[in-house]
Amino acid sequence: MNDDESVPADPVVVALDVGGTGMKCAVVRPDGVAVRTERHPTNAARGPAAVIGTILDVAEGLADKARADGFTPVALGIAVPGVVDEVRGVAVWSANVGFRDVPLRDLAVARLGLPTALGHDVRVGGLAEARLGAGRGTGHVLFVAIGTGIAAAHVVVGTAAVGAHGAAGEIGHILVRPDGPRCGCGRRGCLEAVASAAAIGRRYAELADESPDGRVTAAEVAERAAAGEPLAGRVWQEAVDALADGLASGQALFDVATVVLGGGLAQAGDRLFVPLRAALHERMTFHREPRLVAAALGDEAGCLGAALLALDAARVRDHQEKR
Ligand SMILES: [Zn+2]
Repeated sequence: MNDDESVPADPVVVALDVGGTGMKCAVVRPDGVAVRTERHPTNAARGPAAVIGTILDVAEGLADKARADGFTPVALGIAVPGVVDEVRGVAVWSANVGFRDVPLRDLAVARLGLPTALGHDVRVGGLAEARLGAGRGTGHVLFVAIGTGIAAAHVVVGTAAVGAHGAAGEIGHILVRPDGPRCGCGRRGCLEAVASAAAIGRRYAELADESPDGRVTAAEVAERAAAGEPLAGRVWQEAVDALADGLASGQALFDVATVVLGGGLAQAGDRLFVPLRAALHERMTFHREPRLVAAALGDEAGCLGAALLALDAARVRDHQEKR
């Protein structure tokens, strides 16, 4: 890229990953290395207008600091949760940040004067894992984040599919148990109602006759299962089987080379991956079995993915200027 004369000296992008509680922010070089990182509270209870103000203030502050450090900010990338219209740059809906049809990209362009890309938190996390993390070097990647819910990103040759309505990748709402527990979306038996970290803790508490807020986490269920406790073993295996059903559906649809699992549940390591690989293997008929690996970028993935979107936006601008 340095042989391209239209690229300014020491270009960087500013990246923000906005979550319900905090924002992970960075100034990132074109090679994906962060030269500055910051974290700020979102304080979503203040309402969407105040959160938007903070996003723009933090982004502008990072661009100013980058300039003071001798870099040239060339673009901004912002990742937000919920439903995101990446083409129009609008945060359509978000439960935990309170956004309703916020034209975040236009607001950022007006404030910072930089090309800006808006992305969905899980899709950009998948983008980063596919291009820089555990899926690196394989063109077709399904990234699945398993935490309170389950969401996915399908990345093909460095681009995450957005969908016609900004809602691609909702693998957590694949129907896996028609008579299963009620999902947050209102239907029964969605994958995330059975196999999310929250669902595993709930199911264990229910069967153990403990109070649902008795604080048995999915990680503890995994630990008790490994220690040989039959109830924990049953709950864990139920979740693993449901996940394998969901991933098998994903593989039938997408035929990926690599499935990258992220989010809190993936930290269970072999306790998850060993039985899950076996259960997925059983479900494969003529489909090729994907490589199943843990995410490599941790909670930095969203911010790095926002940076990648920004870099892509900057490149588009370069190409347009050259014409
Ligand atoms: Zn659902």
